[in-house]
Amino acid sequence: MKVIQHLKNAKKTLLSFEILPPLKGKDINSIYEGIDPLLEFKPSFINVTYHREEVIYKERGQGLLQKIRVRKRPGTVGICAMIKAKYNIDTVPHLICGGFTKEDTEDALIELNFLGIDNVLALRGDAIKSESSFIPEREGHAHADDLIRQITGLNKGSYLHDEEREAAPTDLCIGAACYPEKHAEALNLNTDIAYLKRKVDAGAEYLVTQMFYDNAKYFNFVELCRAEGINVPIIPGIKPLTTMRHIAFIPKTFGIDLPQPFAKGLVKCKTDADVKQLGVEWSIAQTKDLISKGAPCVHFYTMGKSEAVRQIVKEAF
Ligand code: FAD
Repeated sequence: MKVIQHLKNAKKTLLSFEILPPLKGKDINSIYEGIDPLLEFKPSFINVTYHREEVIYKERGQGLLQKIRVRKRPGTVGICAMIKAKYNIDTVPHLICGGFTKEDTEDALIELNFLGIDNVLALRGDAIKSESSFIPEREGHAHADDLIRQITGLNKGSYLHDEEREAAPTDLCIGAACYPEKHAEALNLNTDIAYLKRKVDAGAEYLVTQMFYDNAKYFNFVELCRAEGINVPIIPGIKPLTTMRHIAFIPKTFGIDLPQPFAKGLVKCKTDADVKQLGVEWSIAQTKDLISKGAPCVHFYTMGKSEAVRQIVKEAF
């Protein structure tokens, strides 16, 4: 079923979560281990991230380095199909612009359609490590709104080449990303919201936020979006901090501010266990507040580790 249908049918705040494909070489059990502990809470849908290739250099002797492109976490679509078959839970594969030509995108969408997957989260993706800023494929999309336009087109039966124009339409529900504290590259929150409107106008039926730790920022963002005519559901994304590394990594990588009372507690943490205890408590309070104020769904970033999310959901839902 489509995410938008889940949201329309909902009588209370829904639960969803996001998982990552395992690192290449790991078996499928690591996916089951991430999903199984959360099954009892009846997630409405599960997102599976997409990971672009990275460039690595291999020593080939005599000072020679070979440049190789590798995808460290392949398997997004296969995992989505497996989840549907094994658990009968709806899935949302992420699809990015980076590394894809429009042809590649069309092929990927046809594959999702044949697998009976009803949803897709359309994203631009980030620059790969060897690039200083995002560079689209020559025949690819520069921004998520362009990708969304292609998906919307295919949903109307518009394929890339003339001879397929009358071909069967796909029927994918399109989601897109949004950023309550603005996207790192955006000039300011207002310009970011103006571009967000383009994604919705292009066909995004709902939005999922970047993680945030201050609910006031989410509610303020929703208000600004409504004022700009963005009227689709905006699903808040929650990621519990659980390690010392998260404290350094998450605010810097995602351009997120931690509220002072939370930050004050975190600077006193000495171990991962300290961070996890505080991080889980903070996310429980955030989730309870979001539910009490009528959030359509709470989406959890598990990053492959579901134990902390399990504690939060058990307490808050
Ligand atoms: P866009 O909407 O294209 O926006 C990128 C920037 O360009 C913004 O600053 C925006 O203001 C600006 N902009 C937007 N449209 C235009 C336009 N038409 N012209 C000029 N400027 C414009 N990354 C992955 O690689 N794989 C994943 O699975 C993944 N999942 C994610 C899930 C969620 C819920 C979120 C919030 C992010 C996810 N990301 C993922 C990260 C995402 O790819 C990055 O944040 C990326 O830098 C931006 O993606 P976007 O779709 O928001 O891009």
